[in-house]
Amino acid sequence: MMEIPNSMPNIEPVKFGPDDQFKFKCHSKIDCFTKCCKGINIILTPYDIIRLKRRLNLSSNEFLAIYTTPQLLEKTDLPVVTLKLMNDELQSCPFVREDGCIVYEDRPTTCRYYPLGVASLSHKEGADDNEFYFFVNEPHCHGFKENREWKVREWRKDQGVDIHDEINAEWTDIVVKKRSFPANVKLTEQSKNMFFMVSYNIDKFKEFVFTSSFLDRYNIDEKTVAKIKEDEIALFNFGIKWLKWLLFKEGDFIIQEPKKEPGKK
Ligand code: SF4
Ligand code: SF4
Repeated sequence: MMEIPNSMPNIEPVKFGPDDQFKFKCHSKIDCFTKCCKGINIILTPYDIIRLKRRLNLSSNEFLAIYTTPQLLEKTDLPVVTLKLMNDELQSCPFVREDGCIVYEDRPTTCRYYPLGVASLSHKEGADDNEFYFFVNEPHCHGFKENREWKVREWRKDQGVDIHDEINAEWTDIVVKKRSFPANVKLTEQSKNMFFMVSYNIDKFKEFVFTSSFLDRYNIDEKTVAKIKEDEIALFNFGIKWLKWLLFKEGDFIIQEPKKEPGKK
């Protein structure tokens, strides 16, 4: 088990597992309060966007347009989005105010993990391991000087990360899998667009499923169709299953035989 001292020197990222320990406490009286919400690079996960767009009462399209910047994720060639920062001197997060985060209950996964980083999204060498975390070791963060001890697994629970990780798990699996491919294995533009739509634009994916020929092309049982019509998370899980079939030929999505005209063989 690894223990990190409570005065943090500027060290290289340390590989952490669920039972490794660190000392950290963040609170509104600390002299660095909200400094971590400026000049940051936050990759948003699909569930982050679902939570935030609901909170702000926006469609996923509107949320993407107002609050995100598109990027290609390092070593994967996959399109992702980051939180678009304000155009002020410190490049603040649009949700930070003097007294803290205005979307705190629905803050993104990366904010919940901080000061830990998740290797599967912020690539470091050897990041394909399961449950690999590292310190986001920023000198302005004084939370390491506080005397509260955590195991990584306790921190995750305290910050409500588990539900985010659970819902994003299969999506993260696609990212990690694509990263393990040789660099010359490229996805088509169409595949990347589909990845983006399922990952980030759940409203558009719903429209695609229910207004295109999608349901004619695949054998989807009625119960599933009813479920994904009503439940965004079920729709997202369904989309990820489809993506895995589309990108890696994994799973059991069946393309129906095209319907034949009467009298033709
Ligand atoms: S910089 Fe660190 S201690 Fe300060 S508010 Fe942010 S997370 Fe908390
Ligand atoms: S979403 Fe909230 S916690 Fe995350 S960077 Fe913005 S203000 Fe800080």
